[in-house]
Parts: sequence; structure tokens; C-alpha cells
Amino acid sequence: MSLLSQEKLNTLYEVYRVYWSPGFNCWMREQTRSGNEKKFELGEITKIITGENILTTGESYVNINEDAIEGLSTCICGCCKCGGLYKIYNSNTNDAFLVGSKCVEKAGHENFVADLRCAKRNGRCKYCNVPLRFNGPRSNSKNIYDKVCYNCRSKVVIYLKITYNEREYYKAKYYVKWNPELKSWYWKGYEDELPDELKSKFWYKEDNSTS
Ligand SMILES: [Zn+2]
Ligand SMILES: [Zn+2]
Repeated sequence: MSLLSQEKLNTLYEVYRVYWSPGFNCWMREQTRSGNEKKFELGEITKIITGENILTTGESYVNINEDAIEGLSTCICGCCKCGGLYKIYNSNTNDAFLVGSKCVEKAGHENFVADLRCAKRNGRCKYCNVPLRFNGPRSNSKNIYDKVCYNCRSKVVIYLKITYNEREYYKAKYYVKWNPELKSWYWKGYEDELPDELKSKFWYKEDNSTS
């Protein structure tokens, strides 16, 4: 984080109403109802703090695991029309700035806000934590996958309690196979596609199989 002179801190507050918030661990603007969107830019303010205009250099990053801070509406640029704010970081100094969705996009992170909305609506992958999208060209999961993304979805082997007399029926209908070493019937496939009838025969799952 950048260490600023008292003079710069004074300027930031007097001119822009921008200050360091220990509570949010970032630079933010005083929350007001009368913003002045046209006069101030995110880039001018980040330049005072870090020496870089994160809008023009693209020298910023966002963290997809950080949710929006709900209830705040005044972006560091002065615009006060947002329903929640997001943290955007300077790549070199790691200073965080609390900004609205428009400024996140202006800094080149077009999908970030939409992804977080998806995370809120659809949840995240239970293995890699990526926000889940069920529709559109960037879809990465389906509703029926039980909170797993395409990348993390892998086949599992499920061992079944099938008796000798039942075996022909399950072989014909669900293609269950016999493991001679374990002396057990098993089904291999995506867990969310396990047929209901086999669920009642569930014995145990081996989930470190190579799919
Ligand atoms: Zn803004
Ligand atoms: Zn995943």
C-alpha cells in the first residue's frame, strides 16, 4: 500500500472527499447523495495515490472472490448512482479503491460485475469457486450439475449394492459393471446423472477416478 504525505492526504480529502478506510481496507469516497460525475475521474485520483492512472494503463486487477459491498453508492470518482461498490486494485502497489460498476468496466474488467451477479444468483463452483453461469456464450455450468463447473465436473465410480438375482436387470438397463477384485457392481458417470433407481442401491463412491 502507498504511504502518502499529509499534504497529499489533505488534498485528497479536501478536493475529492477521498480517504483511506481502515474498516474496508481501501481508498474510498465519502458517501453522499450529490455526486459530480463529470468533474472527477477515477484515474486522476489513483494517480495521486499510486502515481498511475489505472484507467489508461490498465494497471489494475479485481478479485472474483470478493463480493460487492452492498448499501454503498458513491464511487471514488464521485458518481453516486450505484447499488453496491467493488474493490479494484492497482497491480503494482496493491492499493484498493472502492468503485461502482461503471468504473470497474472503464478499467477493463467488463465481465467482473456480471460474474459477481451470477455468483449471487447461481452460486459458485464448490471446487474452484468460479461464479456459475447457466446461459449465454460464457456459460460454464448447468443448473442440474449441483454447483460444479464444466472444468471441475468429472466422472465418478459409484459402487452399488446389487444382488446376484438383480444383476441382469441393472446390467441391461444401466450398464452397471462388475469389479472382480472388489466383488462389487459399479456404475461410472457424472454424479448428477446417476439414475434415481441406482440411488437406492448406492453403496459408496470412489471419486478419485480418472475420467
Ligand atoms: Zn466511478
Ligand atoms: Zn470449478
